[in-house]
Amino acid sequence: MRALVVEKKGEIALRDIEVDENLGPDDVRIKIAVVGICASDVHYFTDGRIGKFIVNEPMILGHEASGTVLEVGSDVTHLSKGDRVCMEPGIPSSDSIETKTGHYNLDPKVRFWATPPVHGVLRESVVHPGGYTYKLPDNVSFAEGAMIEPLAVGLHAANKAKIAPGDVALVLGAGTIGMVTALAALAGGCSRVIMTDVIPEKLALAETLGAITPVNVASKDLGKTVGDITGGRGVNIVFECSGNKKVAESAFDHAAPGATVVFVGLPDGPISYDLLQGSVKELTVEHVFRYTNVYDRAVALMGSGKIDVKPLLTDRFPFEKSVDAINAFLNMGPTSVKIQIDMD
Ligand SMILES: [Zn+2]
Repeated sequence: MRALVVEKKGEIALRDIEVDENLGPDDVRIKIAVVGICASDVHYFTDGRIGKFIVNEPMILGHEASGTVLEVGSDVTHLSKGDRVCMEPGIPSSDSIETKTGHYNLDPKVRFWATPPVHGVLRESVVHPGGYTYKLPDNVSFAEGAMIEPLAVGLHAANKAKIAPGDVALVLGAGTIGMVTALAALAGGCSRVIMTDVIPEKLALAETLGAITPVNVASKDLGKTVGDITGGRGVNIVFECSGNKKVAESAFDHAAPGATVVFVGLPDGPISYDLLQGSVKELTVEHVFRYTNVYDRAVALMGSGKIDVKPLLTDRFPFEKSVDAINAFLNMGPTSVKIQIDMD
């Protein structure tokens, strides 16, 4: 079938590739509708690796997907042919300790789309376990359905923060993950989110998403805004979503005593943080890796209108132009947030 394939570091092609796809009793076959491009896809193209995951043989990209059920296995009862769905891209092993203890995202044997050696879904169809396939409400489009994956990261971060109603959160970084984390924080009960970046266009968009106060830290004093909004106490929650080393090292600075700091972004190396400040404020530090048990909730929040990701869907390419989509990601303009590929 046609697919977008990373051949090796720096080489990508839209071409035919053979994929072994047998439908088991618990599986569904899905015609792919929309796939979002993620930084990880682009890393496998430009660097040929992310950490210990190395592209040693041609690999299909793409893990943020929605589609239509073509066929269901004999034991699948919650889905039928024609259903519009989105798919959770990580399939854990059911017998690992991590899965058994509720952390299936940490299962070392998890098979995650477009993570070597597992193929992604920038292709015509895929066979996937029914248990990791979720029906979309009628009012959620395929494009929105393909946003459930990044939104799931934001919801997982919101869970880690243990939001109390009325909390004020600070989101550092207004990239895609910063945006979906802000949406998740508001849906989870935050009264206000203060959001930082240095790109005015990103902050202007963020401001339209809800009770969000944008702060351009290139020209404005973040401490003053935090002080004004929180009566000088600091925020209840900090979500570090910039992945920038210096920003991550400053994550404690505006936290209130007793606050929680959730590290979501991934700097490209170790950072140091101020233990003394963490100690005197008794900060709780949390980390996230992908997500667990939030897909159905993400779908429900979109269906009910509590979360609207439509403003984040800025760029769309047809499948035949998917190499251009990857290049567009590499040269992303300030008004772009999510680049998606239409498979039809
Ligand atoms: Zn992603």
